[in-house]
Amino acid sequence: MTDKQVPVPDRYTAFYWENAALGRLAVQACEECGHVQFPPDAVCESCQSQSLTAQPVTGRATLYAMTVIRQAFHPAWTDSLPYVIAQVQLDDAPGIRIQTNIVQADPADTAPVPPHPAERKYVSPTRMASGSGKSALRTGSP
Ligand SMILES: [Zn+2]
Repeated sequence: MTDKQVPVPDRYTAFYWENAALGRLAVQACEECGHVQFPPDAVCESCQSQSLTAQPVTGRATLYAMTVIRQAFHPAWTDSLPYVIAQVQLDDAPGIRIQTNIVQADPADTAPVPPHPAERKYVSPTRMASGSGKSALRTGSP
């Protein structure tokens, strides 16, 4: 059996994984201009400052797009099929869309319909077996 690959934190992404391990979602904020960004980078994508810090976000989000994964592109994911992934727009970090799993969705009940703009979701990091985190989408409130 092949293990699922897990992310390896580096100096730019460590804050994200440290927060995720505590059940918190965080993005990167520029201390110079206030710009928020995700995924993390070495510099601010707005002013190129290297003064970046972690900014916690609530995880409240709007579903932007979703799909059901029915084919494993790596053998380690075969036992997880089918599963639902989505792209969501964070409410308190305008312009940031993140990829996430929808953990409460039944793939059999997930028809290929356009996302409703008013459909509210909550993104919260979950722990993987290795102790690192990944995002997961739940419906309802935090
Ligand atoms: Zn900046």
